[in-house]
Amino acid sequence: MFDSHCHLDFLANSPVNLDAAVAAYRERCDYHSAQHDHSSSMLLIPGVAPEQWPIAAALAARLNCCYSVGLHPWWLDVAPKKRQSQMLAFRHWLDEHSQDKLCRAVGECGLDGTRKIALSEQLPVLEQQLLAAQESRLAVVLHCVKAHAQLQSQLKSLSVPWVIHGFYGSLQLAEQYLSLSTQSYLGIGTMLLRSGNNKLERVVQDIPLSRLVLETDEPRAVKGELNIPWYKAQWAVAQRVADLKQCPITDVIKQSNCNAELLFARLI
Ligand SMILES: [Zn+2]
Repeated sequence: MFDSHCHLDFLANSPVNLDAAVAAYRERCDYHSAQHDHSSSMLLIPGVAPEQWPIAAALAARLNCCYSVGLHPWWLDVAPKKRQSQMLAFRHWLDEHSQDKLCRAVGECGLDGTRKIALSEQLPVLEQQLLAAQESRLAVVLHCVKAHAQLQSQLKSLSVPWVIHGFYGSLQLAEQYLSLSTQSYLGIGTMLLRSGNNKLERVVQDIPLSRLVLETDEPRAVKGELNIPWYKAQWAVAQRVADLKQCPITDVIKQSNCNAELLFARLI
């Protein structure tokens, strides 16, 4: 099963010490194989800041999976001068690596209305990343908290595929996003496993499977917030989606894999 958003790089210490991340990945592959899912090797590791990109890239090369590069809003709470150097590093990385066949997207980037840094300061950083994605013909992995109207106005003119990762809003919000582009997806993750999440359950029931991708997000967060280990998390999410849609889990796996492959296909 394709994990469309997994910060496996957070388990590695450096680009040359990937052992803990590789061990976690193997554990996940073994678990999926035991469930007769032999498509578990694919995942996208979203790079969130310049110091993480080399780790994400090294890990993707070691595991033969894909990665992306972006500036996540949580990593923008720095002095304006440092932010400028982050943007320069981003442009430089894309110039150097946009032909790397494992580099499949820009992101994780987006807007977060709960951070100290104002949205007005986050917006130009996002705009530049969207522009770069457009020029490089790469998909975009988006993070959005309490800034949906502002993000939607940015996405209207984007002609590359994109995903709202970790979606947990209402059905109306889901429909608004998906109406902006036929190449847009919602990333459904472990939020679905929390009890009483009626809004998200409704989204999963009503939005066609062809617009959903599955994810686990961060291994450490899964371990901390849910009573299941990360390597079992995506299977549990897929099972919940299958229950809500009243279809076999094999259909969920097949379709969501196909969507993630389309989303992260190289466009040039
Ligand atoms: Zn993330």
